[in-house]
Amino acid sequence: MGIIFDIQRFCYHDGPGIRTTVFFKGCQLRCAWCHNPESFRMQPQLRYVSQLCTGCGQCAAECPRQVHRFSEGLHRVDFAACTACGACADSCPSGALKISGYEADPRQVMEVVLRDLPYYGTEGGLTISGGEPTLQPDFLLELLSLARQEQIHTCLETNGYISPSVLEALLPLTDLFLLDYKLTDPEELQRCTQACGPLWEHSLHRLQEVSKPVVLRLPIIPGINDLQEHLAQAALLAKTHSCIRKTEIMPYHSLGAGKWEELGLPYALAGTAEPDSEQKRCWESILHP
Ligand code: SF4
Ligand code: SF4
Repeated sequence: MGIIFDIQRFCYHDGPGIRTTVFFKGCQLRCAWCHNPESFRMQPQLRYVSQLCTGCGQCAAECPRQVHRFSEGLHRVDFAACTACGACADSCPSGALKISGYEADPRQVMEVVLRDLPYYGTEGGLTISGGEPTLQPDFLLELLSLARQEQIHTCLETNGYISPSVLEALLPLTDLFLLDYKLTDPEELQRCTQACGPLWEHSLHRLQEVSKPVVLRLPIIPGINDLQEHLAQAALLAKTHSCIRKTEIMPYHSLGAGKWEELGLPYALAGTAEPDSEQKRCWESILHP
């Protein structure tokens, strides 16, 4: 069994062709710009959409942990006290509460994936995303093995901080790695993502050794990593690693900001402007000179 928070069908942006994307919970990096913060914790967790709340108080009546409190016309949610039992979400009449994350059996997930088989054509298939999927190695490997049995193309979206033994097990089961390249400066990397150590470099080195196809993906965030030297370093990596078949910029967007609030998490990038087309052109010209 594993913990996932979504399965999205008919995806176009998570690898080649039409894909079914399974989102695993759990991530050790927790990037400040993440648009899937519901992936951070391995456990299911409560989300509260304040705009939908009518203040009826039903949730407070149901909750055994006094998570929901009402004072001065405000609904306060003590996320730290919540055990994600789901009782309040089940009783909320307006859909303002929901639990993100659920236990899933690999065979049940594969049943959903197989429904999309007729649409994959020659390019599409299964993408496993997150979160960082390699933090649930047994579940991940079983799902990939099932896809192999069905001859379904497999992509793994990863931050690259993969245990070497898990990476070895993944190699024969994964057709394409979508590998994030977040920051070149190690101090900034640790400040913004909690990442440290040489695991990312090891992963790329090993993927190069076995000639496993990689798409290098760069989330570019204005004011954090929209730097000439970072983009130039990515271009250099692509030039010196034949396994990197493509480099892609993923420009910052603020669509995930609301989710941070719904989970009771502070969003450090509030007020960050999305890049305009001129900025994007400039980044592209450095990455693909
Ligand atoms: S999920 Fe359970 S513990 Fe959490 S707020 Fe709702 S009722 Fe309370
Ligand atoms: S039950 Fe739903 S609508 Fe009612 S107060 Fe709680 S969150 Fe708001």
